[in-house]
Amino acid sequence: MVSKQRYSIFSLIGGAVRHHRNWKKAWRSPPLKSDYDVVIIGGGGHGLATAYYLAKNHGISRVAVIEKHWIGGGNSGRNTAVIRSNYLRSTSIRFFEQSLKLYEQLGRDLNFNIMFSQRSEVDVLLTNASIRNMRRRALNMAVEGVEFNMLSADEVRQRIPALAPMRDCRLPILGGSVQERAGIARHDAIVWGYARGADERGVDIIQNADALAIQRNLNGEIAGLETSRGSIKTKKIAIAAGCDNAAVAGLAGLDLPLQTFNLQAFVSEPIKPVLDVVVNCPDLGVYLSHSDKGELVIGGATDPQQISFRKGGKIHILEDTVAGLLELFPSFRQLKMLRQWSGALEFAQDGSPIISKTSIPGFYVSAGWWGGFKAIPAGGMNYAHLIARNEPHELAVPYQLDRFLSLDFLPEGGTTVPIHWVTFICSELFYAAGSMSVVR
Ligand SMILES: Cc1cc2nc3c(=O)[nH]c(=O)nc-3n(C[C@H](O)[C@H](O)[C@H](O)COP(=O)(O)OP(=O)(O)OC[C@H]3O[C@@H](n4cnc5c(N)ncnc54)[C@H](O)[C@@H]3O)c2cc1C
Repeated sequence: MVSKQRYSIFSLIGGAVRHHRNWKKAWRSPPLKSDYDVVIIGGGGHGLATAYYLAKNHGISRVAVIEKHWIGGGNSGRNTAVIRSNYLRSTSIRFFEQSLKLYEQLGRDLNFNIMFSQRSEVDVLLTNASIRNMRRRALNMAVEGVEFNMLSADEVRQRIPALAPMRDCRLPILGGSVQERAGIARHDAIVWGYARGADERGVDIIQNADALAIQRNLNGEIAGLETSRGSIKTKKIAIAAGCDNAAVAGLAGLDLPLQTFNLQAFVSEPIKPVLDVVVNCPDLGVYLSHSDKGELVIGGATDPQQISFRKGGKIHILEDTVAGLLELFPSFRQLKMLRQWSGALEFAQDGSPIISKTSIPGFYVSAGWWGGFKAIPAGGMNYAHLIARNEPHELAVPYQLDRFLSLDFLPEGGTTVPIHWVTFICSELFYAAGSMSVVR
């Protein structure tokens, strides 16, 4: 184990005095052992948080996290880092609210500066359909005791003075909604903080190790994993492989009801402070925040026509997103885009995540995290509970795979994408699964 190194103002001052030559490695690069109690495939936020909570909450530290590239090199390191819990259904509200609460304590818990800025998220609403949708969310959230408020058009403009003046609006702003406790965090820091915490508790993080084959014994139970860095004996394999979950589950002969879509994001050149909230406009399919570096971090809607694992974006999505952005903020017209990137988002058929045992004893799945950065703490904690006890935590009971057999779907959409796009994506998925007649 690495010796613990607490980060504090005093260690920072000490580091400065020693020209920063005193810092120990935040986590080890240990050799692969021949057997582990649990092997987690995927060193993104979900895999590492699961390892951390297995060790911290359940005392299970003979755990390996197998990552084919570098930790955080998947979607956990390429997202726009928005954290909120304003979902539609009680199941989702409870789950994502647990995650938000864990985020509120996470910096202290991990002793790592995760740069969580609860600057609030304001939804700018341009249609009555969006107002109705958000009001419905607000009422459902009130039932669950989570604050989410509606705003008048004037209140929206007071919170976001840079918005287009009334006279320049094609679609006038009708109102808004706000979750005051929403915000953004530094995505790498979440990955690194969990990695450091898991490593301190004895978890082995094995990078550059591709999971190649899953072995089962004569009873069909999990027996081991073949990786590009050697074989491991284990009775429990938990997959947290992001958009590769369906492919990795295929190594065990399991088909999962998942499909991946492309999502892009963009960063502008740095500018002076102009936005102190996260802005989201579901009607235009655009959201943005102002980063500490001064760049605007801009996200668009999922590309419903790109059902693939590609991580390159298409130009029409950039154009659509920029058109929406300029409609809200005409003054950004001169702004130059510095970078563009994208990732493959994984959707379950009903848009809700899967945290579940499977028909293979010892094989567990955490998948369908299309908006799953905000879910990392609760996802990891609930997955660790399931793996340790072989029973789901009460919050994750609805997220079992068997809901697709019993038709207990949990249809859930984002706040960012226009509602008709979510409907389109879900209907694509249902068609793909041949189950349209069942859900109509
Ligand atoms: C552009 C964009 C913007 C986003 N914005 C937000 C946002 O604002 N808020 C939000 O909540 N969510 C957002 N998301 C979604 C969020 O990024 C993901 O839901 C989340 O990061 C998923 O984490 P994960 O740990 O499941 O997956 P990942 O971080 O992708 O980790 C999976 C890991 O598994 C590894 N792996 C795969 N196959 C194998 C194998 N065979 N062997 C070993 N390792 C393997 C991969 O290399 C990867 O590192 C966004 C996503 C994108 C693409």
